[in-house]
Amino acid sequence: MTLPIRLYPDPVLRQVARPVGTVDERARALVEDLLQAMYQAEGRGLAAPQVGALSRIFVMDTRWKEGPPRPIAFIDPEVLDVAPVSELGAEACLSIPGRVVPVWRPVAVTLAWTDQRGRPQKARFEGIDARCILHELDHLDGILCIDRVAEDPAGEGAGGEISGDAPGAAGPQ
Ligand SMILES: [Zn+2]
Repeated sequence: MTLPIRLYPDPVLRQVARPVGTVDERARALVEDLLQAMYQAEGRGLAAPQVGALSRIFVMDTRWKEGPPRPIAFIDPEVLDVAPVSELGAEACLSIPGRVVPVWRPVAVTLAWTDQRGRPQKARFEGIDARCILHELDHLDGILCIDRVAEDPAGEGAGGEISGDAPGAAGPQ
């Protein structure tokens, strides 16, 4: 059975998730549950608190609509570096249906994490991947994109591709 996605203002979305440490069967099962719920919701990312699990895990597959699925599971992710340049982009969230908000995010992020086999990983992500990762990292700390709504005097923040973890087609494109 697919786990239901918790919706704002569910208090679990405001909790800080706990480190996983050793990747055991339970962590692997949670990764599988997250992927199933993400694909079912046609999202591109999903963090454990969004299914009510307070573990520092999120999954991402930003391009599954354009090709074969390429899911990545991030366990105990840590930001090593962010680009000094930020850009304004439109974000939607599976936990906040129907809202698209402009958010400033660094254009790139370097991340260390543990994969679902317990191996350490490190990589740099840009563009839509970086934005999705920063959105999901926020979920692990109880922060939502609606907390980061940009001052947008130029009125151009909602332009471009909609990112975050909800399906792009859900927004006003
Ligand atoms: Zn979200």
